[in-house]
Amino acid sequence: MWYFISPEIVYGEDALSRLDELEGKRAFIVTDKQIVSIGFVTQVKERLYQAGIDCRVYDEVESEPSIETVKKGAEAVRIYKPDWIVGLGGGSVMDAAKAMWVLYERPDIEPAEINPFSPLGLRKKARLITIPTTSGTGSDCNWGLVLTDTSEQRKLGLGSHEAHADIAIVDPVFVIGMSPQLTADTGMDALTHAIEGYTSNWKNDFCDGLCLKAVQLVFQYLPRSYHNGQDEEAREKMHNAASIAGLGFGNSMAGLAHSTGHSLGAVFHIPHGRTVGLFLPYTIEFTATVAADYYAEIAHLLKLEHTEIEKAAFSLAQAVRQLAQNINQPLTIKDLGISNSSFENSLPKLVSNADMDTQTVTSARIPTTDEFEKLFRYAYDGKTVDF
Ligand SMILES: [Zn+2]
Repeated sequence: MWYFISPEIVYGEDALSRLDELEGKRAFIVTDKQIVSIGFVTQVKERLYQAGIDCRVYDEVESEPSIETVKKGAEAVRIYKPDWIVGLGGGSVMDAAKAMWVLYERPDIEPAEINPFSPLGLRKKARLITIPTTSGTGSDCNWGLVLTDTSEQRKLGLGSHEAHADIAIVDPVFVIGMSPQLTADTGMDALTHAIEGYTSNWKNDFCDGLCLKAVQLVFQYLPRSYHNGQDEEAREKMHNAASIAGLGFGNSMAGLAHSTGHSLGAVFHIPHGRTVGLFLPYTIEFTATVAADYYAEIAHLLKLEHTEIEKAAFSLAQAVRQLAQNINQPLTIKDLGISNSSFENSLPKLVSNADMDTQTVTSARIPTTDEFEKLFRYAYDGKTVDF
């Protein structure tokens, strides 16, 4: 038995007007200072006030939110006693909103105890709305959340089948002004979700179509979004792609680009999408033999030059590198400005983090410690290795 879980998804132009129909008394808006400063919080508050709902704003969420931040936020939620929690922002904000909501409902548990196997009994006090302001994370549509354990320099991939939004509002108005760098980072994250969701060992019939559609949309519209942020069609398509991929991989799983990306990001403090996107071509190559058919299907869909089973994975990895290059993303760890000595010193930590990451278990091929080392070294300078 397995589940396919989805929020009500309201998307496209003017999706935000869904808030006009909302019923409730108090909404607790979780966001960050940047989102406040560009006026998005005001837009959401105005809608909620018009619907007769009082609001409180919590804007203390940092990028890659820590356990301390969500505990502090949960305390503020408990004092305010809302019946809606609204996560308005990128993945960090929406993940923090999910965690604060869980802790509000279940003050007896620690964030690290959120897992897919223990029922939480949520929605007794509040429900959750997610409003993404980037096109990549997919957190608006799935039940996963990533928090950072700052003392251990490690990211915790957590999730519960109940920890999904009741309503996801996917309105392109929030992404039209995204910077090229944020567009590139988050867009590569969406692509990684889509490809990993299609090839993880938890892939399934309900997610395959979503993942394939998202791959196609990202290849078609990410370069346009990056090179011309005002291209409304491309922005809307990328915003949809991110949520479609979120739904797809959220109901299957991600894989090694995520476990290695989480690890590198936690040690060297690099944004999530940039690290997972960097690892994606390397991990496609590493899993080439075990997921050959799936890569061939993706290569066929993208009309790549080589779609035969033996070559398709390498052809796809190459296409991912070309896309990354087109939008000025780093292709190697070295490109991130990390010196060889600092990389080598961190290698044992990088390997052990990745080995413990929940996304490793669901990868199409699980590396040994030696293979993890090779994979990281390969991604360091792009010099081909034999797996
Ligand atoms: Zn991701």
